[in-house]
Amino acid sequence: MAYVITEKCLAERYGDCVEVCPVDCIHPGTYKGDVFMIIDPKECIDCGACIPACPIDAIVDAVDKDPEYAKINADLTEEFKKNPKEIILMTLGWLHPVKGVQFLIEAMAKIVKKYTHIRLLVVGAGPYENDLRGLVNSFNVEEYIHFLGKRSDCRELLHISDFFVLPSLSEGLPLVLLEALAVGRTCIVSDIPQVQGIINNLKSSFLFKSGNVEDLVRVIDYAVSNPYESKKVACEGQKYVKKYFLTLLT
Ligand code: SF4
Ligand code: SF4
Repeated sequence: MAYVITEKCLAERYGDCVEVCPVDCIHPGTYKGDVFMIIDPKECIDCGACIPACPIDAIVDAVDKDPEYAKINADLTEEFKKNPKEIILMTLGWLHPVKGVQFLIEAMAKIVKKYTHIRLLVVGAGPYENDLRGLVNSFNVEEYIHFLGKRSDCRELLHISDFFVLPSLSEGLPLVLLEALAVGRTCIVSDIPQVQGIINNLKSSFLFKSGNVEDLVRVIDYAVSNPYESKKVACEGQKYVKKYFLTLLT
């Protein structure tokens, strides 16, 4: 017996099932031209952890509940097992030049040459959106950068992301950064005074020089290639925010 990922998962971007699987038997890939996940039937130990993790009920707990997709999961396993897990960066905010997303897009255009399995989710809307989309096209990185518009499920999106990036040139009180830290994301933030005022415990985020694409590339590269260090920074950030800013987030 093994669990099975069904057709509902096609084109979905949630990866929560991967995070909870204790034996690492869920693998990403492309099927029918869309992103998809499969469960390796030989490795699955039927623990059931993935079912509540899937927000759209795309997993069934027995082969005979979806024999067609059970075969598809099995057939795609060898191919998908070779694919690395996607690394997801997320940024969120009003799309305006002062938010610095243009620097992040330029940094992505460089970083995808090294990490082809990295993706950026841009959440939010604003007057600069068309310019940002134009920038993505001019760098030819449409495959790696996804504009999600205004969303009501930002917290869920933070949960499926590995890193939260705040590339702003200026900020008021960036509540979204506190939120990202509170849910345990590793944060990469520009070293503007408003942020340093909050993150005065520098162990709780990775900082880069504001508006400096090369420095942003350096910091993303470091964070991605040092997962243990990134987790430690995320844990520090979570503890720090819960200690000093909890009242702002409740
Ligand atoms: S049932 Fe358990 S072992 Fe099988 S895919 Fe789900 S989380 Fe992984
Ligand atoms: S959580 Fe559900 S929708 Fe998301 S990748 Fe896993 S099976 Fe697919």
